[in-house]
Amino acid sequence: IVAVEGVMKRFGRFTALNDINLSVRAGEKIVLCGPSGSGKSTLIRCINHIEKHDAGRIVVDGVELTDRMGDINNVRREVGMVFQSFNLFPHLSIVENCMLAPMKVRGLSRAEAHERALGFLRKVRIHDQANKYPGQLSGGQQQRVAIARALCMQPKIMLFDEPTSALDPEMVKEVLDIMVELARDGMTMVCVTHEMGFAREVADRVVFMDRGAIVEEADPETFFRAPSTERARDFLGQII
Ligand code: ATP
Ligand code: MG
Repeated sequence: IVAVEGVMKRFGRFTALNDINLSVRAGEKIVLCGPSGSGKSTLIRCINHIEKHDAGRIVVDGVELTDRMGDINNVRREVGMVFQSFNLFPHLSIVENCMLAPMKVRGLSRAEAHERALGFLRKVRIHDQANKYPGQLSGGQQQRVAIARALCMQPKIMLFDEPTSALDPEMVKEVLDIMVELARDGMTMVCVTHEMGFAREVADRVVFMDRGAIVEEADPETFFRAPSTERARDFLGQII
């Protein structure tokens, strides 16, 4: 469902992504990890076309992402994204946060969007807070709303960029539990995370990046037990 081929991304003279090749099949769960500054967020952002790559090809759901794309929104609406900072609209209630894009982009009526929003809020176990505002919720609750909001667009793939790293420790699990459930439901997922328990539990593949390149790619069992590169060993030594 995603093909990244020979992708390069520069910021000025700095090369943030260097010849990245990655393919994601429908239903696959990929955990992307690596040191700070290795290019994980940049790669995720290129897949969602928030950043434009300088060379190579990215194909999402059969559509190549290019500068001259007529309507990037046709692709982007199939891609759900959850960030470290929850990015909810503070002036909209929880349920309105979830209704906005389905009404604007998918053309749902208010009633349809409301019903769908409540369904996904129930799924992330937060429907009882539907009429509150983001500022009234804990970080873990806000992140679960952000996940529900993305799911309301019924995306074909979900991208997560360190969804738990801004949370207090006691709230990490409630968000990871939702992500594990989503994985069990068969969602295609690319997750930047250093939660290695999550990686072990759900990842089909762990992709390790360093200095803008994919250095290692393995199933989680192999990656954790016997990383084949020095850099991955160093990294694992630091986070475990
Ligand atoms: P972290 O774990 O800290 O989130 P990361 O692996 O997500 O790191 P990126 O955010 O992808 O790393 O950044 C990769 C490199 O690209 C970094 O050195 C960063 O400084 C640089 N970079 C990212 N975005 C920009 C930008 N908009 N302008 C200039 N440099 C950038
Ligand atoms: Mg990042």
